[in-house]
Amino acid sequence: MTGMALDSDMPDAPKSAAGGAAIYFDGKSNQRRAVTLHFADRLEIRDGDTALAAWAYADIRRADGPSGMLRLSCLTAAALARLEIRDAALAADLVSRCATLDENTPGRRGAATIVGWSLAATVSIIAVVLFGVPLAADRLTPLVPDAFERRLGEVADSQVKVVFGGKACDNAAGQKAFSKLVTAIREAAGMDTSVQSGVLSSAVPNAFALPGGKVYLFDGLLAKAENADEIAGVLAHELGHLKHRDNMRGLIRDGGTSFLVGLLFGDITGSSALIFASRTLVTSSHSREAEQDADSFSIDVMRKLGRPTKPMGELLVRVTGKEGKGLSIISSHPLSEDRLARMTREDRPAGGPPLLTPEEWRSLKSICVSDGKI
Ligand SMILES: [Zn+2]
Repeated sequence: MTGMALDSDMPDAPKSAAGGAAIYFDGKSNQRRAVTLHFADRLEIRDGDTALAAWAYADIRRADGPSGMLRLSCLTAAALARLEIRDAALAADLVSRCATLDENTPGRRGAATIVGWSLAATVSIIAVVLFGVPLAADRLTPLVPDAFERRLGEVADSQVKVVFGGKACDNAAGQKAFSKLVTAIREAAGMDTSVQSGVLSSAVPNAFALPGGKVYLFDGLLAKAENADEIAGVLAHELGHLKHRDNMRGLIRDGGTSFLVGLLFGDITGSSALIFASRTLVTSSHSREAEQDADSFSIDVMRKLGRPTKPMGELLVRVTGKEGKGLSIISSHPLSEDRLARMTREDRPAGGPPLLTPEEWRSLKSICVSDGKI
């Protein structure tokens, strides 16, 4: 009972399974309200006889709070609505009713590290909020801790997996060829093994990178490709986006004030900011300049491998037509025709060995065919 002193300000708070006392912020004003919680078929939040809100247990998520306090948010409530519970027994009871409390959150331990950001980062965020976002995205991006970016990537990754049926294509021979190709590119790019990649089963000819080091290729792009150099160039281009942290920059630019405020207050777990972020990541487009830099990166990597740069340009034109219209991944990219022209200009005769044998290339092309079928 040594902890009871902490609760002395609410001596009569009911602590049975029926509910108990908590603090509630409605997310619209900064008013702090003492409320009672009632465990009905939903969690009812009441102020005396007035019902303030009712949260479905399945929508309740853990938000970051100081130790000794359970702080909760709700997916269907205002983004900044919070419930704070200090009573350990009450908190435990509520936690037992919320099966998805920690779902799709990248770990609450980590988000608290936002507080550990440098003063410079904090000042930058405030400056962004006050003076506008686009100016500061470039300055702010390098201040985002890698660990945070990785967690964000993990959440986005889990959403990608949901959209694409749970997992990446992995027939054994195809996976082996893909790993060989990715490893060669990654090493030439001077990037470590934290870079992960996979092929997703989708007819859309597309590829994208997620923060924290994940690159995905759609089966549809493999289907359009005629050789390993074409795919290698695209993968190297996506690694370029990772290396330059273009996703994080785009997120800060497009996320606007609420995303930044979420960052500042460590409110990234399970919050609307995070859901926004992972949605944006998959549909985001980069600036033209970022695309040109990623192409430069790809050209460098292909040169180091002694492989031609022109095939990637040829693949782009084959997929998009000369103007590169109609594909989200390429929508803000420079015209495919211009990119092909550049990659043709930069092309050198192949001096290095082929990245894949003809057999490995065939295996990679059919990576999404399940092992059971021939
Ligand atoms: Zn790109």
